[in-house]
Amino acid sequence: MQDQPAVPGHRHDHRRLGRELGIFGTDPLIGAGLPYWLPDGAVVRHTLEEYIRTAERRGGYRHVYSPVLGKRELYEISGHWSHYSDDMFPPVDLGGEQVVLRPSLCPHHAVIFRSRGRSYRELPLRIAELGGMFRSELSGVLGGLTRVRSIQLNDAHIFCTLDQVTEEARAALELIRAAYEALGIRAARYRLSLPGEGGKYVADPGMWRRAAALLTDVLERSGLPYEAVEGEAAFYGPKIDVQVTDGAGRESTLSTVQIDFHQPERFDLYYTGADGGRHRPVMVHRSIIGSVERAVAHLIEQHGGAFPPWLAPTQLVVLPVSDAEVPHAAALAQRCAERGLRAEVEGPERGSLGARVRQASLVPYQAVIGAREAAAGQVSLRLRDGRRPGPQPAEAALSRIAALVGAHRTVLWEDEGDGEGNGNGNGNGNGNGGGGV
Ligand SMILES: [Zn+2]
Repeated sequence: MQDQPAVPGHRHDHRRLGRELGIFGTDPLIGAGLPYWLPDGAVVRHTLEEYIRTAERRGGYRHVYSPVLGKRELYEISGHWSHYSDDMFPPVDLGGEQVVLRPSLCPHHAVIFRSRGRSYRELPLRIAELGGMFRSELSGVLGGLTRVRSIQLNDAHIFCTLDQVTEEARAALELIRAAYEALGIRAARYRLSLPGEGGKYVADPGMWRRAAALLTDVLERSGLPYEAVEGEAAFYGPKIDVQVTDGAGRESTLSTVQIDFHQPERFDLYYTGADGGRHRPVMVHRSIIGSVERAVAHLIEQHGGAFPPWLAPTQLVVLPVSDAEVPHAAALAQRCAERGLRAEVEGPERGSLGARVRQASLVPYQAVIGAREAAAGQVSLRLRDGRRPGPQPAEAALSRIAALVGAHRTVLWEDEGDGEGNGNGNGNGNGNGGGGV
């Protein structure tokens, strides 16, 4: 550990750990607040994005792509220009028009909704995108993955009737709950974020009251403890914010569910009802994990680099005891690849077995292959938490690992028909605590 953590007493600083683990980096030549992702970070990000997209597809969302730029008029209509311009990059003059790096995805999705006529039968229409947006943070406050100028947001907009809002918001909270379970993170608290004083918010008291009442209803029915806080709403509507805390106890918003009557009005969105008339949809904005930058920063700090097995850059390291077992190790790594597991071989040229085991201390699974294992088609498994399920047929071990990974479980191992932590001697639960090697 070469650097001091930025915050005293702070166990995992994602900026330091992110560099050490090869997750991301920054360079003054690229610019402040513009991190790049290194190969292991790209694996984590890709895996996280695929988890989200799959969960969204199962939840009835359809994915789109939309450009990260838009004409200034788009944001004048949405209200960003008058209520949010302090956080936006200045417009670029381009052939007589002005284009802006987008501060949010909402206006693009509103335009996609109205790209053709919509019937009530299509509602709720759930449009999702994991897309780029930009925030003109001052360089003094930029750092790591948490204060950035270029943001990849896990975003979605649900266009629905007033009657459908509560169920859609409830389903969004359930997606958030399931994602947190898979990621091994927890909500510090739920916040009902209401408008405060001042011109930051669009003026329409009736709209704010209705939206806040709907969100309150969702929270009350969910049974989740929450507190209402004024001054934290989006400029267009109130929201439920799911708050997380970092290792230093600082709180930030990861996930949100928002109700918006404003933008449907501004973009003149409508659908044709069962009565043949024109009706205004409600827009529910929701994000399961927020931005991938903040989510990965939080995961690094939460797990100290010991990611849940399904998310780990390397899931299994194969350790041949001597040169004679290297071909067996390579064959096992190949079988992992065929099953979609990410495996690396660390051979004897990388040092003693003990040194290689220590080097791979954040990898969930270590498969040791000595002469005995090679002859029998077995592996000796060691888990990151120190447990040793012991020698077993290689295929059986891979099947069990693949099953846990495929189910997005956070546990490292489970005995058949058993819960986590039973059996196997020195089990000490699932974590990154040290263990004997
Ligand atoms: Zn939105």
